[in-house]
Amino acid sequence: MSKLKAGDYKSSVKPIWCPGCGDYAVLTALMRAFAQLELPKEEITVASGIGCSSRFPAFIDTYGIHGVHGRVLPLASGIKLGAPETTVVAVGGDGDGFSIGVGHIPHAARRNIDLTYLVMDNSIYGMTKGQPSPTSPEGAVSKASPYGSQERPLNPMLMAISYDVSFVARCFSGKIREMTDVFVQALEHPGFSLIQVLSPCVTFYNTYGHYNQITRALPVDHDPTDRLRAMALAMETETQYLGIFYREAGRATYSQRFETLQQRAPDTTLETIFESMKR
Ligand code: SF4
Ligand code: MG
Repeated sequence: MSKLKAGDYKSSVKPIWCPGCGDYAVLTALMRAFAQLELPKEEITVASGIGCSSRFPAFIDTYGIHGVHGRVLPLASGIKLGAPETTVVAVGGDGDGFSIGVGHIPHAARRNIDLTYLVMDNSIYGMTKGQPSPTSPEGAVSKASPYGSQERPLNPMLMAISYDVSFVARCFSGKIREMTDVFVQALEHPGFSLIQVLSPCVTFYNTYGHYNQITRALPVDHDPTDRLRAMALAMETETQYLGIFYREAGRATYSQRFETLQQRAPDTTLETIFESMKR
C-alpha cells in the first residue's frame, strides 16, 4: 500500500465550522500526524462529545463516533479496551471536557488508558452562541455575561498535571507545525495524553491576537519529567507556554494491566465468577 498523505485522511464531508475557526488547524495537524506515523485509517477511531469541535469525527476518514455531552472519555476508554490495537483519539471542547465531562479526567489519568485527548479550548460555548465556559477569564464579556464573567477560570494544564495525566501539553491553532509535532509525540506515548489546544472561536470570542501576544514555547531547557517544574510553568498565566509540560515514561497502561490480570486468571470467565458468588 502506498504511503498516505495528510489529505488522504480527509472525509467527503466538508467542515461546517465558521471560516477562520481554530478547529480547522487542529484537523489539519491531526491528519498530518497520522500521515507522519503512517497509521492506516482502519486502525484509528476518533470519538467526540458535543459542541462545535465535537463535529470533528465527521470530517476525518477513520472510524468515528459523535457521542454525548461530556462523555467522550468513557466512550474512548471503552473503545480502547475493546480494541487495544486501535489508535484512539478523543476530541471535544472546553465546555464538553472541562465542565460537564471534567470528572472523567482523573479516572482516565489514574488508569492511564492509552488514548490521546485533544481539547479544543476556545474559552467559550461556541455552539450555543457564546456563553462563558470553564476557561473564560474573569471579566469576560459575552451576551450571557454582559457585566463580565464573575468566575475564576480553571487552569487545565495545572489540573492535568495534578491529576497525574502521564502526558500533558498545550498547543495553539496559530502554530500548526509545532502542534503537529506535539500530536505525533502524544500519539506515540503509551498512556493517557491530554492536550489543551488554544483554538479561538472567531465568531464569539476571537482570541488570536491575544494568544499571538502571550504564547511562547516552553523554555528549551525544560525537562518534561520534572513534574514540579511543569506545575510551576502551568501556573504562569501572563505567559501561556506551548509544548510538552510533562511526560512520564514507563508507566503501565490499563490494557497492559488487564492483559497481565487475564494471564493470572486464565480460567476465569463470567460463569466461574457467578458460580463463586453463589458459594
Ligand atoms: Fe468555531 Fe466559534 Fe464558529 Fe463554533 S461558533 S465553528 S467554535 S468559530
Ligand atoms: Mg468551547
